[in-house]
Amino acid sequence: MGLWDSICVLCGGPVASQAYMRDGETLKKYGKWLGNLYIITSTEDIVKTDYSKEYLPGEYKIKDKIYTITPVHWHINQKISIEFGTENVKKYSYGVVCHQNCYKLIYKSLKHKIQFANICRLINDMGYITPKSKYGIIKKYWDQFFNYELAVKNNEWVLKNPLSNAKNKTRILKMWRPLVKKFKKNPPRPSPCESATNFPVGAIFLGYNKKLWIVKSINRRKIWVLYKGKTKHLKNIPYYPSRKKSKSKKKSKSKKKSKSKKKSKSKKKRKSKR
Ligand SMILES: [Zn+2]
Repeated sequence: MGLWDSICVLCGGPVASQAYMRDGETLKKYGKWLGNLYIITSTEDIVKTDYSKEYLPGEYKIKDKIYTITPVHWHINQKISIEFGTENVKKYSYGVVCHQNCYKLIYKSLKHKIQFANICRLINDMGYITPKSKYGIIKKYWDQFFNYELAVKNNEWVLKNPLSNAKNKTRILKMWRPLVKKFKKNPPRPSPCESATNFPVGAIFLGYNKKLWIVKSINRRKIWVLYKGKTKHLKNIPYYPSRKKSKSKKKSKSKKKSKSKKKSKSKKKRKSKR
């Protein structure tokens, strides 16, 4: 599926204004609630925004800060600005996006505030929970762009405000009730939610417990370890080791290679996949 319009991680409805704006005009019907959004950031901040803050597809610019909401792009801006040293890394943040009303619905009905750490490992690169069938009928309208017209024509209720439309509310709660049950039973782990295998050894992130964690390779498995080193040189968090360091790492890797060629190959493959 080539979904490109961002969708609300909670209901699967459109968040990007191109889905419900025509000729510069917000479609009167549902544009209003669809456009009122929260970004749940990787550091568990709830940032209020709306469609007018769209900067690029999948990015919102709020008070000079850029929020990336598509997982596949989460780390790109920060990495680029570190590599080239041209921009202030601190201006980038990332997370997931949802409608304010969907967030409120889950809080009201299930007594739980959805956290980044609840869902960051349940979503795929495009930012929706898998399998997508969980979202019900609305997934039918996930073309490359959200097919607003077709949804209005055939199942208008999926675009209606779930705080007032019972059918849409039921659809969303059916999906989230079992998930929230799990979240309550298993609170997030103290280390960063994202998998350590996604990052180079030496990367430092803020954990759910608000402490710093570093990626280490132990028995050839990357894991998060509580960071107890100096913090002065860490100008920004997340901290990604510079390219120079990763080069020297490659050398040590190639040494390993001679030991077990196949293994390091499969490692590389995995890396390029992500
Ligand atoms: Zn929603």
